[in-house]
Amino acid sequence: MSRPHTPKKKALKKTPRKYIFVVGGVISGVGKGVTASSIAKIIQSRGFSVTAIKIDPYVNVDAGTMNPTEHGEVFVLNDGYETDQDLGNYERFLNITLPSKNYMTTGRVYQAVIDRERNLGYKGKCVQVVPHIPLEVVSRIKNAAKDANADVTVVEVGGTVGEYENILYLEAVRMLKSEDPKSVMTVMVSYLPTPPKVGEMKTKPTQHASRLLNSAGLTADIIIARSEMPIDKKRKEKIATFCNIAPERVISAPDADSIYDIPVNFEKDNLGDIMLEMLALPKRERDMAHWRAYASLVKRVSEPVHVAVVGKYFSTGDFVLSDAYISVIESIKHAAYALKKKPEISWLSAEQFEDTKNLKELKRYDAILVPGGFGERGIEGKLNVIAYAREQKIPYFGLCYGMQLLVTEFARHKAGLKGANTAEIDEDAPHVVVDIMDDQKKKLEEGDYGGSMRLGAYPAILRKGTIARKAYKSNEISERHRHRYEVNPEYIAKLEDAGLVFSATSPDGRLMEIAELPEREHPFFLGSQFHPEFQSRPLHPHPLFVSFMKAASTRAEGKSTKKTASKKGRPKSRK
Ligand code: GLN
Repeated sequence: MSRPHTPKKKALKKTPRKYIFVVGGVISGVGKGVTASSIAKIIQSRGFSVTAIKIDPYVNVDAGTMNPTEHGEVFVLNDGYETDQDLGNYERFLNITLPSKNYMTTGRVYQAVIDRERNLGYKGKCVQVVPHIPLEVVSRIKNAAKDANADVTVVEVGGTVGEYENILYLEAVRMLKSEDPKSVMTVMVSYLPTPPKVGEMKTKPTQHASRLLNSAGLTADIIIARSEMPIDKKRKEKIATFCNIAPERVISAPDADSIYDIPVNFEKDNLGDIMLEMLALPKRERDMAHWRAYASLVKRVSEPVHVAVVGKYFSTGDFVLSDAYISVIESIKHAAYALKKKPEISWLSAEQFEDTKNLKELKRYDAILVPGGFGERGIEGKLNVIAYAREQKIPYFGLCYGMQLLVTEFARHKAGLKGANTAEIDEDAPHVVVDIMDDQKKKLEEGDYGGSMRLGAYPAILRKGTIARKAYKSNEISERHRHRYEVNPEYIAKLEDAGLVFSATSPDGRLMEIAELPEREHPFFLGSQFHPEFQSRPLHPHPLFVSFMKAASTRAEGKSTKKTASKKGRPKSRK
């Protein structure tokens, strides 16, 4: 894939680097990540060079060992670091590629400080939580800003103010601010509930959050007032009075139809000008035309394409959580919008398809996707779904585990390899068609689980005359990975003889990167060992997703022709 265009901005000379900290007030889950991304987008659209950092206050060294139901998707960077899904938001909004420096957790910060102490890096001093931990945080932020040559660095602090694990980060903000108050500002993303029985939007939780921030030695320079409805003048004034802030610095942020509207909405409240003024940056014209056009297109598309995502990380208690697959969902959307279609995504739990009677429910979808995953739960259900998609010629896209299972299904039902399986499920299966990579075996034996998969960007070579090659329009690609297992080289010839095409491999030909069926046999039956979803951007949709969604649209169009035809009493079969 040709690298998406990355806007290169000439950094300002002599002006000190500026920092915007985005902190949460009241509750989490009200879109702090998208708010931080939107703020960064606004500054970028004014012609400044921008980067974004995420701080997660948990003790895990990275997000890699966590179940996605805990904290959402694990987003993998080019350099292989396993991070929080917000890094995905930043990359997508800003169309930039971020390094691991732009992510930190409490675990990582402490680990660095302890390592330095062990190496006598503190020259015999007593190393203390304060100031050494916040100082390490400050130095990491500065370092990332310098590496990106950023005029402005947006730093999102995970969690909400007042949480115990947040305190050291707020202390870091205070320290950085005391060095140069004009170069640091704090944005608090708050929430204003409207209790149904009361029927009035309440500002009190925001007032409390603002006080908590004060007790950390900081004031909110801007308050983003998240709420169901736009905030009215009266409440803006109330917040202004009780939180020591001018009313125009209280920015209304009602629930939006699409995330792309958020930077546009913020600009309606003049947020760009306010921030530039506070940071003593020169005023520059705004250039958000492409983004605006995109945000408006998203609202205009009306022809639906129905995609079923079959996975397992959907439920948490009684609630459905699609955050675990956020990049996949965004990638489907990017591709659909590029084709001027309306993406309708359904989340289906794989386990229900262990009973093959339920498979016919899939017929009404225009396409099926099985995303990445780990372990045994729901596997036989996924395999049944893949077999059904192959037989019924429903476009199918398998990502990582979804590709390994495509190969397993094909081995069982088309290559005559009865009982074929992946070693992840059954290492004693009669045909282990997906096996653990040699170097990975050793790591697992030694209990080395954290950050030890095959991670990050690796090149692959595409084979001529394939769907993949046609999609990418290129011979060589670079894609991000996160796996321990691979297609077993001993079975490649057998699978190929049975008609499976390996259309991309690692440059040395050892690792199978894409498996597909030829277009004449199936409209789109393809799986990638890598995760294309990590590189799709709104204005640069990923070529494989576009190709998949094209096939889905063709099926959708076929279905609607069929419907009209049968209405007219002329039954017609779909092409
Ligand atoms: N569990 C599989 C592996 O480790 C697939 C991983 C994934 O889907 N990210 O290889």
